[in-house]
Amino acid sequence: MERVKIRRKKTRCIYVGNIPIGGGAPIAVQSMTNTDTRDVRSTVRQVQQLFKAGCEIVRIAIPDQDAARAFNKIKAAVDPPLIADIHFDHRLAIAALKAGADGIRINPGNIGSRRAIEKIIEEASAREVPIRLGINAGSLPSRILKKYRHPTPSAMLETALDYIRLFENLGFRQMKISLKSSNVLDTISGYQMLSREVDYPLHLGVTEAGSLVSGTVKNALGIGTLLLKGIGDTIRVSLSSNPVDEVRAAYEILRALDLRHRGPEIISCPTCGRCEIDLLRLVKKVEKALAGIAASPKVAIMGCVVNGPGEAKEADIGIAGGRGQGILFKKGRLVKKVPEQELAETLVKEVRKMVN
Ligand code: SF4
Repeated sequence: MERVKIRRKKTRCIYVGNIPIGGGAPIAVQSMTNTDTRDVRSTVRQVQQLFKAGCEIVRIAIPDQDAARAFNKIKAAVDPPLIADIHFDHRLAIAALKAGADGIRINPGNIGSRRAIEKIIEEASAREVPIRLGINAGSLPSRILKKYRHPTPSAMLETALDYIRLFENLGFRQMKISLKSSNVLDTISGYQMLSREVDYPLHLGVTEAGSLVSGTVKNALGIGTLLLKGIGDTIRVSLSSNPVDEVRAAYEILRALDLRHRGPEIISCPTCGRCEIDLLRLVKKVEKALAGIAASPKVAIMGCVVNGPGEAKEADIGIAGGRGQGILFKKGRLVKKVPEQELAETLVKEVRKMVN
């Protein structure tokens, strides 16, 4: 049997700054800063860290007018397109748009009156800036909750469709939609139903997913299942962790599905009683040293000769451990034996040589 092939659904294309989303464009990776937006220096530093890690669009919370003023300065100092995250007050959206936001994220349910939503749309239209309709299971309108009793996938869908129609009636189509729940199965059902109804690009994510390990697993299953079905145009892995971890996790999800590749792929064994080198330390060291590299060679780090030579040969570069040493392979060919204490340095040097 041949390997599974993902057929992506063709959606409309919108642009967040210079980044295309939908229409068959590569799935864009997003994250969000967790600094105090009013602290311009820290926020700029974090945006640039995210950008360096491969984050293509960064979202920033705008909780008040001071944050909107800070957003102006942040925008002028950073590389990636910025999305302003707005709740409750449409005036913050207008201020962020005036400050040069490349996109706005709102949950129309908490913006208030229809006139307030119209004002945001008018300003975004005039500037040709897209809006993400962010539907969240935790904040559905009371009318919908009364009808469905719980924030079910159908409840999220009906909420999304109501807002989409409202935006369309106001002549606005530059939008992408998210339908997030902290429940993975509800998230999958909601997006699947929405994808059948509309051709707007979809922003995927599992909300409030948790810490690095549990959150990554939930996101990988939620986002990964949808991507596998061809659904989704941009992703944000939300984690209670450093946002740079979100970007790394996003690329690992995309890599696992062969959708995008960024950074070296480390293939390492879990180790067992046969391992005669300190493999866990070696993997950590090599992974850290290669973290900033955008190219994506396959690097195998294997504990012994059982699967080691096989995996190391399939990789671009690899080592198979032995007693106090490792055998270095390059492009499937045995190169030399390296003493254990020189393994990390040799591997990193060889990878750098290869990608340069
Ligand atoms: S490669 Fe060797 S050390 Fe690693 S898990 Fe397999 S048998 Fe154990």
